[in-house]
Amino acid sequence: MLPLRSQHTIAKPATVTGFGYWSGKDIQVEFRPADAGTGLVFVRQDIASRPRIAALVANRIETPLRTTLVSNGVSVEMVEHVLAACAGLEVDNCEIWVDQPEMPGCDGSSQAFVDALSEAGIVEQDATRQRLVVTEVTRVGDDETWVEIRPRPKGGLKVKYRLDYGSDNAIGRQTIELKVNPESFRRELASARTFLLESEAEWLRSRGLGTRVTTKDLVVFGDEGPIDNELRFEDECVRHKTLDLIGDFALSGCEIVGQVMAHRSGHRLNAELIRALLAEGEIIGEQRRTA
Ligand SMILES: [Zn+2]
Repeated sequence: MLPLRSQHTIAKPATVTGFGYWSGKDIQVEFRPADAGTGLVFVRQDIASRPRIAALVANRIETPLRTTLVSNGVSVEMVEHVLAACAGLEVDNCEIWVDQPEMPGCDGSSQAFVDALSEAGIVEQDATRQRLVVTEVTRVGDDETWVEIRPRPKGGLKVKYRLDYGSDNAIGRQTIELKVNPESFRRELASARTFLLESEAEWLRSRGLGTRVTTKDLVVFGDEGPIDNELRFEDECVRHKTLDLIGDFALSGCEIVGQVMAHRSGHRLNAELIRALLAEGEIIGEQRRTA
């Protein structure tokens, strides 16, 4: 097994602005350097006491179509693509200051966050990253939708994701397999955008949600394919689902070593797998954070 890697943070602050897919409000998020051992922590700067919400699976609550974290009654929504950017680039310690209870949607991918973190510069810290080693096959879900992880004696994290929307629509079946590291994340996943079926988009609008979002801001699939939009990759959907999974895995607070196989899995199951792993896997390195 490879030696533990160093923890990383960013060299200086970096800002991303945009609007919230859910609230429609303008949002500014500022990434700030943080000490080794801090982890990824959201800070709500719109609240006087500046409450902190750690990006840990214990703080995750179930909400439709997005990931929400809550700590001491204070929440932050739509964190998944920010977490994916940090995890994908191995930025382990970062304060994420935000002036709304939601992250900006940007183009529906992690690209804006990856650009900001890269621009700030990623630096090594004088501490090793704790590692969660999968020691036995762990699986959650049912026959239709599942995700499992197996030991990977070589080390590293490998993901195989199978997306299946059936054969009678424009998304269809897509599969991707890749070894996760900052290079592959930047090249293969970071720019893959979130997507919705037209029926889901209509459901959201009927509830007064996402009214500022247009078919240019994310990919909405009609019968014939993306509406008013062009795909960045032929298999952009499965790439985005893999990006989401990497963001969900960030909620472990560890570098995970194992081989993932996901079949139509989403945020809920991915988080369930992380809970199971934290209970069963072997953690190597410093004490796990609890806050
Ligand atoms: Zn997503």
